[in-house]
Amino acid sequence: MDFKVFDVILVGSGISGLYAALNLDERLNILMLSKRELTLNNSALAQGGIAAVLDKENDSFELHIKDTLIAGNYKNDMDHLKILVEQGPVDVRNLKNFGVEFDTNEQGNVNLTLEGGHSRRRIAHHKDTTGFEIETRLIEGVLKLRNVTVVDNSVLTRMDKKDDYFLAEVLHNGKYHYYAAKNTVLATGGIGRVYNYTTNSAIATGDGIQFAYNMGAKIKNISYIQFHPTAFADKNSRESFLISEAVRGEGAYLLNCKGERFMLKYEPERKELAPRDVVSGCILKESKRLNSTDFFLDISHKDSDYVKNRFPMIYQKVLEKGFDMAKEPIPIFPCQHYLMGGIDVDLNSESTINGLYAAGECSHTGVHGQNRLASNSLLEALVFSRLAAEDINRKVQEIDNAKQVSYEFSSPEGKKIPKGVRTEIRSIMQEAFFVEPHYDECISGLVRVKELMSLFDDNIYQIDRDYVEARSITTLAYLILSEIKERFEKGHDK
Ligand SMILES: Cc1cc2nc3c(=O)[nH]c(=O)nc-3n(C[C@H](O)[C@H](O)[C@H](O)COP(=O)(O)OP(=O)(O)OC[C@H]3O[C@@H](n4cnc5c(N)ncnc54)[C@H](O)[C@@H]3O)c2cc1C
Repeated sequence: MDFKVFDVILVGSGISGLYAALNLDERLNILMLSKRELTLNNSALAQGGIAAVLDKENDSFELHIKDTLIAGNYKNDMDHLKILVEQGPVDVRNLKNFGVEFDTNEQGNVNLTLEGGHSRRRIAHHKDTTGFEIETRLIEGVLKLRNVTVVDNSVLTRMDKKDDYFLAEVLHNGKYHYYAAKNTVLATGGIGRVYNYTTNSAIATGDGIQFAYNMGAKIKNISYIQFHPTAFADKNSRESFLISEAVRGEGAYLLNCKGERFMLKYEPERKELAPRDVVSGCILKESKRLNSTDFFLDISHKDSDYVKNRFPMIYQKVLEKGFDMAKEPIPIFPCQHYLMGGIDVDLNSESTINGLYAAGECSHTGVHGQNRLASNSLLEALVFSRLAAEDINRKVQEIDNAKQVSYEFSSPEGKKIPKGVRTEIRSIMQEAFFVEPHYDECISGLVRVKELMSLFDDNIYQIDRDYVEARSITTLAYLILSEIKERFEKGHDK
C-alpha cells in the first residue's frame, strides 16, 4: 500500500486544529482533515466566550489561577496551568490579527463579562456566538495558506505508527486514501456522543482518543467529565441546546418546580454562580428532594431589550422552542458538556508517543483539574495547539523529501457493523455516570461494554464512519468506566 507523505497530519478543524495550522512553519506541507463540514464541531457552538487576564488593573494571573484551582478541586497540573494563564492573553489578543472581533465598551476596550467560578470580569466574547466568530475567522486564515491542504468530509478511519511514520487511512467521497507523516496533531474534540444528552456536536465521538489509546498513548483522567447545569430541557433532541453560563453571569436565577431559588439554600455565598459541577449536583439533590425534574432559568427580571441584545442567538433559539426568555423562565436540566481528561500531553502538547501531539478537548493537559472553569477551554485550545506547532517547527529541521512510502495495511472492506451499539453504550453511560457515578451500574455496565469491545477484535467489518464512531464511543465507555471502578476501589468516590 502506498501512502502519500506530508510533514504534518492535523486531524480536526476546530479552533485547536486551525490555530495549530496557523502557527506551523509555512515551509511544512500539512494535511488538515475534518470529519464533516469545517464548522460542524464544538468550537463553533461556544457561546459564552474566552477567559483571559486582559485587564491587569482589575485582575491578575494569580486570581485567574486561583479561580481555576478552586473549580478544578485543586487537581490541576500547575505547570500547564501557569502556561495557560500567563501565555493566554497574548493568544487572545493575537486573534485580532485574524479579524476576530470581541464586543467592546464605550471606551473601545474589550467588554469583559463574568461567568460562574470567576472572581473577576475576564471573559472576552462576541455577543453569544464567540466560538463561531473565532472558528470562521481562523478558517478564513487557514484557507489562505498554500502549504495546508484542507479536506472536509474526510473521516480518519484508522491510524498506526510504523517506523517514524504515522499511517492514516481516510475515507472521503466513498473512497479510501492513504497518508503518512512523521508528526500528527490530534485535535478531534470531545466525547459528548457517549451520552444520550449532551451539548456536543455530532462529531464528538472521541475518535482521536480511541486512535491514540490503540496506538499505546497514555490516556489520563478520562472520567473527569463535566455536566453543564443549564441545557434547554428537551428530551426529544440528542443535541441539547446550551444556555450559556453568561446568562447566570448577567443575573439569571435558578428556580425549582415551586418557583423557589433553591441555590440560596445550598450555596448561600456563590448562589447561581458556583462552579458547574456544584450547580449540577445541587439540581440533582433538589430533584431528588422534590421528586421532580422541572427546573427553570429566569432572567425575566432584567431589562427585556438588554436580554435580547446581549443574548441574541440564545433568545432566538429559545423563542423557536416556544419560550420568550425576556418575559418568562425557561426549562433547563443538566447534561454532558465537556471532557477534562484525554490524551496525556507534556508542556509541548506531545503525547507519550514521539511525534504524536494532542490539543484541545481530546487532550489532557491537566489545566482544568477535576472540573473546568467556564471559558477556559477555548483558551486551552489556543495556547496548547500553538505550543504543539512551535515544538514541531523546532523539531522539523529537514523537510521530508519522500513523496510516498509503502507499508502493509489490511483491507477496510467487510460487512456493516451491527446497528444499535452506540444506542446501547449511551444508555449504559447515562445510567452509570450522570453528574455522579453509581457504583453498581458502573460495574454491570463495564461487563457489557467489555463484551461489545470484542466486536472490534474481528476484522470482518467495513471500516467506515459508523464503525469508527461505534468503536470510539465503546472504547471511551470502557476507559471511563474502568477508571471509575479504579477510583471506587481506591475509595476516592466513597
Ligand atoms: C455548546 C457549547 C458551548 C461551549 N461554550 C464554550 C465557551 O463559551 N467557552 C469555552 O472556553 N468553551 C466552550 N465550550 C467548549 C469548547 O467549545 C470546546 O472545548 C473547544 O471548542 C474544543 O475545540 P477542539 O478544536 O478541541 O474540538 P472541536 O471544535 O470539537 O473540533 C474537533 C474536530 O475534529 C474533527 N474530527 C473528529 N474526529 C475525526 C475523524 N475521525 N476524522 C477526521 N476529523 C475528525 C471534527 O470534524 C472537528 O473538525 C463549549 C462547548 C459546547 C459544546
